[in-house]
Amino acid sequence: MPGFEVFGEEEKRQALEVFDTGVLFRYEFGEQRNGVYKVREFEQAFAQYTGAAHAQAVTSGSAALKVALSALGVGLGDEVITQGFTFVATWEAILDVGAVPIFTEIDHTLNMDPLDLEKKITSKTRAIIPVHMLGAQARIKEIKEIADKYGVPVIEDTAQAAGARLNGQHLGTFGRCGTFSFDAVKTMTTGEGGMVISNDEELWRNCSEYHDHGHDHVVNPGGRGGEGRRFIGFNYRMMELQGAIGLAQLAKLDMIVREQQKNKAILKEAAAKIAGVSFRKILDEQGDSATFLAFMLPDKEQAAKVNQVLRENNAGAINFGENTWHFYPSWEHLLEGKTLCKNSWPFTVQGKRRVIYDPQALPASSELMNRTLVYQVPVKLSESRRDTLLTALNKAAAL
Ligand SMILES: *Cc1c(COP(=O)(O)O)cnc(C)c1O
Repeated sequence: MPGFEVFGEEEKRQALEVFDTGVLFRYEFGEQRNGVYKVREFEQAFAQYTGAAHAQAVTSGSAALKVALSALGVGLGDEVITQGFTFVATWEAILDVGAVPIFTEIDHTLNMDPLDLEKKITSKTRAIIPVHMLGAQARIKEIKEIADKYGVPVIEDTAQAAGARLNGQHLGTFGRCGTFSFDAVKTMTTGEGGMVISNDEELWRNCSEYHDHGHDHVVNPGGRGGEGRRFIGFNYRMMELQGAIGLAQLAKLDMIVREQQKNKAILKEAAAKIAGVSFRKILDEQGDSATFLAFMLPDKEQAAKVNQVLRENNAGAINFGENTWHFYPSWEHLLEGKTLCKNSWPFTVQGKRRVIYDPQALPASSELMNRTLVYQVPVKLSESRRDTLLTALNKAAAL
């Protein structure tokens, strides 16, 4: 998912416009900035690109989740449901607002299993966060239907799926809001950065004010110092350089996805020859951002055997069953409630442990993850790298 591969002159030109004004702050400095408002422009361009009515830039994808949860009023005593296959940031944000993360199984989409979601909804559920992992669609329509039935808002964690769509509609626009990350390894990058998109103006307003210490951003004679505030907030502001780089990267996003789709097809064709292989369920191939290729072997042993051949041929694949940052049973710090806080917050409240996490709670996900192999798909696939990958996959097919 590497926007860094296509980082170049366009990003430099955009950033230089910011250097020319010397204004790094997204607000104020009216006389100095010559009408240059890169973060604001980036928000408008991102909203227009995805088809959302509003966009709020923030400092990271993690911040986007936290701002979205805060804007929805989620806090202490609430439960938020997400999936057991995601990056740690998804549940860190839930814990950070004081809520308890509840985890669902994944299905062959490698994303939230809607059947398990419905089982895990309780009277305390205040938000549902499906994650469009590895660049492709969660069963967002089914998830949204279930969420609507119980009156619970959906936040789509779209950190790994910028540029992806489902039947032509951008991921991140199905739920009440969608969150994105532009960190250093994402499909488009601003180094660090994130975005919340929504069609709900009130929710966007909450995001905008919360992310900037509560400033209401209403024009007034006192300027920034004279602004009103409706509630307390924090600082998750994006800076102008990031906005500038974001504009350049966004303009390349559809090209990135197109190139990845081509390269993914090459790898998929070769992987299809491996005995017993099957592929991750992609709900809409055309809308896949194609940042990853995920394929399954019949069992864990065969996946290990195939991956050993791939590794021996300099083309080892990722097995998320062995990866410690993206899959529930490996999150020992979460499972064991490890925190810097002396009173064990957020795991313990008033001396009482809020939830005990059982490492074996997601058997279906484990079964699936342990036999799934994943390649990151590059934007630029050099001939020599392509040959290495195809040779390795052919050797695995000859097993
Ligand atoms: C990267 C990522 C995040 C966090 O984004 P940062 O910008 O790194 O904070 C959140 N969720 C998922 C699924 C991610 O992959």
